[in-house]
Amino acid sequence: MTEQPQATTANIEWRGNGVPVSTEFGDVYFSSNNGLEESRYVFLQHNQLAQRWQNLSSNTFNIIETGFGTGLNFLAAWELWQQNAPANSQLHFISIEKYPLTKQQLSQALAHWPELKLLADQLIANYPHPIPGQHRIELNAGNVCLSLIFEDIEIALADLQHNNIKCDAWFLDGFAPSKNPAMWSRQTLEYITALSEVNTSFATFTAVGRIRRDLQQLGFEVTKSKGYGIKRDMLSGVLKQHTPAAMQWYSPVKHSTDINSIAIIGAGLAGAHIAYGLAKLGINAHVFEEQDSCAQGGSGNDQGILYSRLSHEKLHLSEFSLAALLYSYRYYQALFNSGVLTEKDDGELNGSIQLAFNDKTKVLQEKLKQRFSNDSLIKWLNCEEISELAGIEIEHNGIYLRDSGWLNPQQVCKKLLKQPNITLHTNSKISALDYADGWHLTGGPSTKFDAVVICNASGAMSYTQSTDLPLKSIRGQISYIPLAGAVDRPNLPVCYEGYLPPPQDNQQCVGATFNLNDTSTQLSTADHLTNLAQLQQYLPTYYNSIMYNNVAAEKLKGRASIRCATTDYTPIAGQLADQDKFIQQYIPLAKNAKRTISGAAPLLPNCYVSVGYGSRGLSYSPLCAQHIISLITNTPSPLSSKLVSATHPARFLLRDIIKGKATIED
Ligand code: SAM
Repeated sequence: MTEQPQATTANIEWRGNGVPVSTEFGDVYFSSNNGLEESRYVFLQHNQLAQRWQNLSSNTFNIIETGFGTGLNFLAAWELWQQNAPANSQLHFISIEKYPLTKQQLSQALAHWPELKLLADQLIANYPHPIPGQHRIELNAGNVCLSLIFEDIEIALADLQHNNIKCDAWFLDGFAPSKNPAMWSRQTLEYITALSEVNTSFATFTAVGRIRRDLQQLGFEVTKSKGYGIKRDMLSGVLKQHTPAAMQWYSPVKHSTDINSIAIIGAGLAGAHIAYGLAKLGINAHVFEEQDSCAQGGSGNDQGILYSRLSHEKLHLSEFSLAALLYSYRYYQALFNSGVLTEKDDGELNGSIQLAFNDKTKVLQEKLKQRFSNDSLIKWLNCEEISELAGIEIEHNGIYLRDSGWLNPQQVCKKLLKQPNITLHTNSKISALDYADGWHLTGGPSTKFDAVVICNASGAMSYTQSTDLPLKSIRGQISYIPLAGAVDRPNLPVCYEGYLPPPQDNQQCVGATFNLNDTSTQLSTADHLTNLAQLQQYLPTYYNSIMYNNVAAEKLKGRASIRCATTDYTPIAGQLADQDKFIQQYIPLAKNAKRTISGAAPLLPNCYVSVGYGSRGLSYSPLCAQHIISLITNTPSPLSSKLVSATHPARFLLRDIIKGKATIED
């Protein structure tokens, strides 16, 4: 989405009265006496939010703000939402900010408003690292979703347009147009119009004539009102006419009917996160699992690491992997905070260590400095510092990844699936899916479902709707080494070629092997030996301390399971294409891949898929689940449009069409 390696954080001077002033733009973020009142007057009142929320006819409301700054407008809107909106509804507040404040600056600025402290503290606790891209923050048990986009305004608005997002109310809050022209450019106003529908409202503190005229020309009915306090005028208005914007092949397609009953196939991490997210919104989720309990496949280990292989390059996979890690860390933290998960028993989010264990990883970790040295996500440590942190002797330098830790994937699934509004059907093998005014499940109940989500890893290939997805199976085995005596143990996960989570119940888990296209789940001594050999090679001191009594590999306990991966190692999450119609629509791309093809992509009605997480299910599946929930509920996706296309189920088909390899079957 951006070429900027790091977001440039705000340069702020604090006036004597503590008011933040941007040195870059020479303008204040808010005025000290009346900033909050001004925000309420300009943005809340002139978008008529209290009245609109009291009479909310849909379950959601989308605000987009240009310029997040200190978050004052957001907090004011959140407070008003709590006072006026129906209890089960969801506010999506999307705010675009090119120069994010640091957490410390944010706290200092918001300390001005003691009346907002309760909300401000939650915002500050969840405020993301200043890393470019989209950050989804769920507040108020998910009823208030803040999407913070750290990006230039025009790039961010174009991205929202590709994601087919519609705004209900705009807060236009750049610095004064004379000081901050980019925020008020004609192009910016055109995007704003494209992202609006008839009756979408806007409000802004400025009354500059050029902006008023541009908005009028673009179809807004603009009203000039008395400005706040001593300010003379301000503008507000509503869109009166709208021209639909062009859709991309990956743009989420809005459905017109409400989805109330949902079948989810597969009770691993992918299915459990979707069921849990829907259930929290009051939507009943039926989860079908062919085994006799949940998390029996790739999600069945009792310790997994929440981490991501970070990259200095902005490739789709590394961008997805980073976004997924940052989101999942906040998501699991919320599960611990709300008591769904229990600290220590179900996992610990106290970071992880990634060793620079060979030349390639040394170079890679060095290069990460280009991108992450400005934020607190990563610390580069030498082997003494790492040994100190890990609590065991470590022979390599490496990095400490803060937003990380370990979790028990099986417990995560169990606990999520126990929540209200979720029904788990075990021993239920669904062998086919058929659509006739709703989804019918062969092997399931006779009732039909409004929507179906396929979450059963490689099992997805057994359904005609998803049979062509390029999924592959990768066997992975973990080994358990019994610990005896008072040996030092790692306090947090250590990752090298394999990984080493903190021991549980006097057993040291060592993971994991990687065997492509092997689908056996029998324990293998050869795989135990591979795990031990890696441990010995990369952590020899620890290996010697726990293997002093020469445990025989063939006697070790362990677990082997099959992970499902995709050919490009990026998961598949989204709505499935109606294959023949999709080929028909996009076949002109075989002649000219750059050709614009308008109109929504032909997709199967309310049929979604979430598979292909490889060994990263813990970190990848929460963000993909949230994306699928956004498709089901017609709400903004937490993924940038670049990542929507990177994870789209039809991306492989589109590539085949472009290469002239796709044909329509008779
Ligand atoms: N709404 C904010 C609040 O409640 O504190 C105040 C916003 S402040 C007046 C304007 C914001 O626009 C600043 O935070 C500034 O960094 C941001 N900004 C300026 N130029 C931008 C651009 N080209 N793209 C995105 N954000 C920009």
